[in-house]
Amino acid sequence: MNQADSNALSNDIYADAIARLDTAQEHAHIDPEALEKLKHPKAILTVSIPVRMDDGSLRVFKGFRVRHDDTRGPTKGGIRFHTGVSLPEVQALAFWMACKCAVVNIPFGGAKGGVIVNPKDLSRMELERLSRGFIEQVADFIGPERDIPAPDVYTNPMIMGWMMDEYSKIRRERTPDVITGKPIPLGGSLGRDDATGRGAYYCVKELEKLKSWNPSDIRVAVQGFGNAGQHVARLLQADRYKIVAISDSRGGIFRDGGIDIPRAIERKRERRTVSEVYSASSVCDCPECGCIECRCATEDQSTGELITNEQLLELDIDILIPAALENQITAENADRIRAKFMVEVANGPTTSDADENLWSRGALVVPDILANAGGVTVSYFEWAQNRAGFYWTEDEVHERLERIMSRAFAEVYQLTTEQSIPMRTAAYAIALNRIGDAIRSLGTSSYFSESKTSVLEA
Ligand code: GLU
Repeated sequence: MNQADSNALSNDIYADAIARLDTAQEHAHIDPEALEKLKHPKAILTVSIPVRMDDGSLRVFKGFRVRHDDTRGPTKGGIRFHTGVSLPEVQALAFWMACKCAVVNIPFGGAKGGVIVNPKDLSRMELERLSRGFIEQVADFIGPERDIPAPDVYTNPMIMGWMMDEYSKIRRERTPDVITGKPIPLGGSLGRDDATGRGAYYCVKELEKLKSWNPSDIRVAVQGFGNAGQHVARLLQADRYKIVAISDSRGGIFRDGGIDIPRAIERKRERRTVSEVYSASSVCDCPECGCIECRCATEDQSTGELITNEQLLELDIDILIPAALENQITAENADRIRAKFMVEVANGPTTSDADENLWSRGALVVPDILANAGGVTVSYFEWAQNRAGFYWTEDEVHERLERIMSRAFAEVYQLTTEQSIPMRTAAYAIALNRIGDAIRSLGTSSYFSESKTSVLEA
């Protein structure tokens, strides 16, 4: 893709995200004023972060923080470090966060942040300086009751720890509740590390109840083998689902007999070169056997096959789990997607024209704003634990997460069946109702234009 195409795609991404509101509002009771308010981000901050590099030179990185809407609570959302970060992308991601928090009914609005950088090119100390430098620039924009960051693509607990520490230094008091996804000894929550994957796993379990299938008959492909992709694959395989393909940014592997996920995770983690933060290995390192490691422990010794990320999407499987980046399933390849179920672990993997195609061909898509909401839900638990100074067991976290995910899934699915609409439209309609009700509680024109003079008469 050339630079012009990639700029056009990134500008479209926010417009495409917002356009989904117009479809969903037909199924919601949102006031037109509230709908209009939701189409505009509340605040946008662009920052330049000067970083002293290890060789003595200075590099200036560009970053963003966007707060989309805070009517339902402080804004919430991750920070990503990626070369593809752009303002329209961060705006779309902030908007999705607002909708996501409303779908699972946790008391947060939506935000997102990003820095244009390839973190794999930085040393550990450069990465720490960049993380602290970003917080220095956004310190007045965030806060435990204002805007609470978290990890996202290529950021992790250690980076959250540095960021929390920097914010606490600026405020001159310990402030664990300013950021979530922290290491456990710094106030992180048990169960936050696998929460996004686990939330998606609970969605698959809900589908399983509805469709009464036998997990061992179900073939799954996972695009993206980062934190969320690894955990959803691990949990599904432990439950007898057959994971036949996985991929990462360097490519993928397909193995008809199923891939040994714990070994694939171990293999990916084992080959670190840059820092503790990033692994240089890739899931497609060793095609000789499906478990990614030559000493295959599974009964079926058939070899794996190297595939591209595009090929993975088009495999003949039952469940497709896009867990990488945005815009993977588009008008261009939607026709070739054969999976009957899709569970979106990535944010925004499907464009709206691809959505129409999939729906018309009978595929059921569990949308990102529901399927990947497990991460922010446990972030909410972490924030609540930090504020209470009282910590929960891992079982308590899992139980509460499962309760929230299955209730949200049931609400979305009910609207889908009642109104014969895609689960995405239903999820947005529920989000619009919840955010719209909060906006309306502060008064809209139907209230203010009434002739009554006293507020007390209302
Ligand atoms: N980055 C994650 C997401 O996109 C988590 C956000 C959070 O925990 O605030 O949902």
